[in-house]
Amino acid sequence: MTTQTTDLLNALGVPSSAYTGGTLKVRSPIDGATIGVVHEASAEDMRAAVERGHAAFLQWRNVPAPKRGELVRLFGEELRKHKADLARLVSLEAGKVSSEGEGEVQEMIDICDFAVGLSRQLHGLTIASERPGHRMMEQYLPLGVVGIISAFNFPVAVWAWNSALALVCGDTCIWKPSEKTPLTALATQALFERAVARYEGAPAHLSQLLNGDAAVGEAMVDHPKVALVSATGSTRMGRAVGPRVAARFGRCLLELGGNNAIIVTPSADMDLAVRGILFGAYGTAGQRCTTTRRVIAHESIHDELVARLDKARAQLKIGNPMEAGNLIGPLIDKGSFDAMQAALAAAREQGGQVSGGERALAEQHPDAFYAVPALVRMPAQTEIVKHETFAPILYTLKYKTLDEAIALQNEVPQGLSSAIFTNDIREAETFVSASGSDCGIANVNIGTSGAEIGGAFGGEKETGGGRESGSDAWKAYMRRTTNTVNYSRELPLAQGVKFDI
Ligand code: NAD
Repeated sequence: MTTQTTDLLNALGVPSSAYTGGTLKVRSPIDGATIGVVHEASAEDMRAAVERGHAAFLQWRNVPAPKRGELVRLFGEELRKHKADLARLVSLEAGKVSSEGEGEVQEMIDICDFAVGLSRQLHGLTIASERPGHRMMEQYLPLGVVGIISAFNFPVAVWAWNSALALVCGDTCIWKPSEKTPLTALATQALFERAVARYEGAPAHLSQLLNGDAAVGEAMVDHPKVALVSATGSTRMGRAVGPRVAARFGRCLLELGGNNAIIVTPSADMDLAVRGILFGAYGTAGQRCTTTRRVIAHESIHDELVARLDKARAQLKIGNPMEAGNLIGPLIDKGSFDAMQAALAAAREQGGQVSGGERALAEQHPDAFYAVPALVRMPAQTEIVKHETFAPILYTLKYKTLDEAIALQNEVPQGLSSAIFTNDIREAETFVSASGSDCGIANVNIGTSGAEIGGAFGGEKETGGGRESGSDAWKAYMRRTTNTVNYSRELPLAQGVKFDI
């Protein structure tokens, strides 16, 4: 275990007993070193945690929302204080370059700020009643225990998107993080506990963390007292989780895989497009749900654009993500590198011309998996292009008409993020219109990744349909009641129905 990791975990308030002597081995993707051996929860532990979380909910739901916001404000303070350490731990455990690690923690701070404001704005409507002396209104009330399943590539921000909102909405949380990133989860939980210690009157077990594999997640998914399961990960995971929650009529918020495209039209600012595509495709070593996986370029500019992308791609600095200047960190593990190689082999078979994609730094880091970012010129949108490979592979395609480009963009099973680079207002408006992109996110002149906290985040089709983070995403964490109040001395029935006794 490296001293760097233990120092960070110490500073973040995680006792060494939490990451030694367990059964879940944690390895840093940077060099393959073991950086912790974490204790795993069982399905039985999960069921007990849900009962505790439900007991806490029965108290927390009666605390006024702005007072609940105060706890999230304190948590935001802890995050501000410990941003650098938590960001470093994200880099160590998930392999993100330093500025992206810091960006991830900043996202947590941003959602806390958003949630604090929201705690004074959990509003319903007042609606005109058809009956005299009556008033109709709707209220949003606390929902219950929220189960949060998160993926390795945003090991802490996604939890914060869910929990900051859930806590101000009066819910309690149980977190089952990725088995690949349990240390950042332990650190986040420790920071949350510090905020709880500074808050008067918080019930115990407001937010609980249970590390473990899919079986622990399944115990949460099946528990009838988990009112909402918010699950982030692959479409394969969503296919397992969604029907199980539906079978018990629970609520589900799914944030699954993406296969995001950027359309580049002849009028586009080419410098902007190149920069937007490079960050979108190769930032985070292609391991974002919003990573740009396809470029659909007009035939008149395709070759020039792709030549520029290919040249810049080959110059991207690969290496230890914690060293300044490196832009491409490692893939999370060998499985991920193998999946990348299999996708490139399939692309070749399907007519693709591949640049890059080979293993990098293997001599320096035999137990880590760095890859040269790949660019693949495809003759058509074949099967492999429609598949999300969680690695830095960018497929390029040509189009003749904008309708054809939009059809290609929408032809994949996923529907998370999309973008168009154009200076033609007709093209831009068409792209964001009803007959344009079918994704949950459709951008103009910025790339597909790096969303802000203020908007609702999520996607359609196999991405799962969920929305998290800003706008009115909070409504998923509450139950809506419609109340009709009669302040008259009569009892008129709706729709003029008579029932005279
Ligand atoms: P994964 O699906 O392998 O694992 C995600 C989480 O689900 C883990 O915590 C895992 O233990 C859990 N899990 C897996 N099977 C389960 C089951 N049957 N029941 C309960 N829990 C189960 O995903 P990953 O490799 O960690 O992350 C990469 C994937 O996540 C990509 O597909 C990426 O696009 C997606 N992702 C989506 C978003 C989004 O907001 N749409 C954000 C981040 C990542």
